[in-house]
Amino acid sequence: MRARAEVDLAAVRDNVRALRARAGNAQLMAVVKSDAYGHGMVPCARAAVQAGATWLGTALPEEALALRAAGIGPGQARVLCWVWTPGGPWREAVEADVDVSVSALWALEEAAAAARAAGRTARVHLKADTGLGRAGCQPADWPELVAAARAAEAEGTVKVTGLWSHFACADEPGHPSIAAQLASFREAVEHAERAGIDPEVRHHANSPALLTLPESHFDLVRSGVSVYGISPVPQIAGPAEFGLRPAMTLSASLSLVKKVPGGHGVSYGHHYTTPGETTLALVPVGYADGVPRHASGTGPVLVAGKWRTVAGRVAMDQFVVDLGGDTAGAGERAVLFGPGDAGEPTAEDWARAAGTIAYEIVTRIGRRVPRVYL
Ligand code: PLP
Repeated sequence: MRARAEVDLAAVRDNVRALRARAGNAQLMAVVKSDAYGHGMVPCARAAVQAGATWLGTALPEEALALRAAGIGPGQARVLCWVWTPGGPWREAVEADVDVSVSALWALEEAAAAARAAGRTARVHLKADTGLGRAGCQPADWPELVAAARAAEAEGTVKVTGLWSHFACADEPGHPSIAAQLASFREAVEHAERAGIDPEVRHHANSPALLTLPESHFDLVRSGVSVYGISPVPQIAGPAEFGLRPAMTLSASLSLVKKVPGGHGVSYGHHYTTPGETTLALVPVGYADGVPRHASGTGPVLVAGKWRTVAGRVAMDQFVVDLGGDTAGAGERAVLFGPGDAGEPTAEDWARAAGTIAYEIVTRIGRRVPRVYL
């Protein structure tokens, strides 16, 4: 096989168990958007539910509907999706018992209209912008949204099942915005409850807040990256220190190994020149597969027992490593990243090499790379 991303579902299950233990009395939502951060949405969702996640979270309604279509019913997991645009599949979501996020009046109206048309009740999570400055209702507009939700509840078209928000800087413990966001959230919840809203769940925490800030747990925590075994705060602790194990291993079979003389330019732009006679190995994955071009000259790969570095530019379908005085055979496995316990680099190492975060490294692994489930 040219390349493969092995996904260790036992690691996903163990991570979910470890995260549930950290969550205390709060329920756990496994965030499986973006194809479970590249790991494969349905298999990871099933593994997470088996290990005790009671909620699944997606960005797109289409992702939520795909979970239901795969047979993950409301009796197995509640599903919340939060990236909506006008004219979205509100009715399908209501009919599939998918909870929907609402940050603005137009969204509440579309949810209520879909519920009316379906003869059902829309399950709505009102989202407050407590300081992220992205989705969510501004504090000044919150009373109007809450009043409209109460009116829709009275009509029977909407049930507010959740009140929620999202952190901006939870990955920087101690950042002053964290306490400010929690205070703003408490105010938003108190206001809604005073107005008669009686939600099933209040939730604000993502993985970093789950792992570092127990007072943010409320009734439910939403964990994405840590379900896949990646530390959300790598500057503080690696996955093992949180009882987590990275689930994805990305590897490729060398497609060519050849001797070249010194002074040989390598890959587009000749940004690497062989220092002397050497052996080059061709790794047949590239930026079309999600290997970041920004890791040209810096990305680490385990080949024949040693860490090598991408020599020259990452191309669309392949890159080169310089084996120096060593050799390897065509077909030999090059490991770009994995859990790190067999000496291979981790997604975190690639994140550092590419100037990004490990979230992006795993999520961007493309569809050309088959996922192989262990
Ligand atoms: N909640 C929301 C609204 C998100 O957008 C995300 C992911 O970006 C998460 C939770 C999960 O975050 P993390 O992967 O840091 O756990």
